[in-house]
Amino acid sequence: MILTDTHTHLYSEAFDDDRKDMMTRAKEANVSRFFIPAIDSNYTEAMLQLEADYPDQVYLMMGLHPTSVKANYKEELKHVATWLEKRHFYAVGEIGIDLYWDTSTLDIQKEAFKYQIELAKHYNLPIVIHCREAFDEIFEVLEDVNDDKLFGIFHCFTGTLEQAERAIALGMKLGIGGVVTFKNGKIDQFLSQIDLKHIVLETDAPYLAPKPYRGKRNESAYLTKILEKLSEIYSVSEEKIAEITTANSKEIFGI
Ligand SMILES: [Zn+2]
Repeated sequence: MILTDTHTHLYSEAFDDDRKDMMTRAKEANVSRFFIPAIDSNYTEAMLQLEADYPDQVYLMMGLHPTSVKANYKEELKHVATWLEKRHFYAVGEIGIDLYWDTSTLDIQKEAFKYQIELAKHYNLPIVIHCREAFDEIFEVLEDVNDDKLFGIFHCFTGTLEQAERAIALGMKLGIGGVVTFKNGKIDQFLSQIDLKHIVLETDAPYLAPKPYRGKRNESAYLTKILEKLSEIYSVSEEKIAEITTANSKEIFGI
C-alpha cells in the first residue's frame, strides 16, 4: 500500500528534534510520498534541505501563504516568481485567502492569490488553496480566473456539499485531513456523495491532528487515521482508497 500525504509541513521547526524518527514512523505507516507546501521565504532553505535529505519522497511546492501576505508582500511574491523560474516545483502553494487571522489585508491577499494563480498557469502547475473563513472570496477569485488551465487542490476542505461541488467544478480536488475525524467536523456527513476520484489525503502536519491525537502535534504517519475514517464513510477498503487517492495525487502533481 502506498499512501500520499499531499500537504505536510515536514520542514517545520516542530520536527527539528525528531524529524528522522518521524519519517521512519511515516514509512512504517506506508506513507511514502510527501508534498510540501511553502509558507514564505523564511522557510525556503529548510524546504530545500528537506528535499536534499529525502530526495525520492519529498516534492516541493512554491508559494506565499495568505497569512504571510503583509507589508513586504511584493518582495515575497518576487521570491516566489524567481524560484519558479529557477527550477521545477510540483505546485504553487499554499496560496489563498485567510480571514480568520487578519481581515485588514484582504485586498492584498486577493492580489497575491490572483498573481500566483497566473504564475501557476504560466508553468502549467496546479495550485494548492488555503481557505479559512473565506469561501465567498476564494470562489469570487477562482470564478474570475477560471479556464482550462486552472486545476489543483482545495486543501483542508471544510465546506458544505454545495461548496465541494463548486470547487470540483472549478478543477479542484478536495484535500481531506484530520477534520474528517472530528465530531463537529461536518464533512463526514456528506463526503460519501462525492466520488473518490475527487479526493486526496493530507495531514497538514504539524497542525490539525486527527482523532485520537486531536490538539497534539500532527505527523504524516497519522494519515492512516484519515484513511480509516474514509474507509468507514465510503464502505471501501483502505487498500482501495490508498490506491485511488495516490492515483489522484499523481494526476494533479504529475508524479
Ligand atoms: Zn498548510
